[in-house]
Amino acid sequence: MGTEGKAGSVVKRFTCGELVEVVTAYLDDALDEPDRAAVESHLARCADCGLYLDQFRATVRAVADQPGEQLSQPVRDRLMAAFKARHPSS
Ligand SMILES: [Zn+2]
Repeated sequence: MGTEGKAGSVVKRFTCGELVEVVTAYLDDALDEPDRAAVESHLARCADCGLYLDQFRATVRAVADQPGEQLSQPVRDRLMAAFKARHPSS
């Protein structure tokens, strides 16, 4: 956080790091419209994040196939760590 401009009317944009932070909410359909649109516009122009989202979805599905399992914090942390390793910083 901390990089947003002052103009309220400008379409929100996520960096790759910020997108990682909201991707679970995105997959849960828990984002408000401006945020969801920002995620989708980022995915449309960032192949890395598109791949990451595919991986994330596959992982979520694999976990969901196991009764009683949920996407736990360790799993999220591992996915985010793997992603961040490919994006040292931005
Ligand atoms: Zn990205």
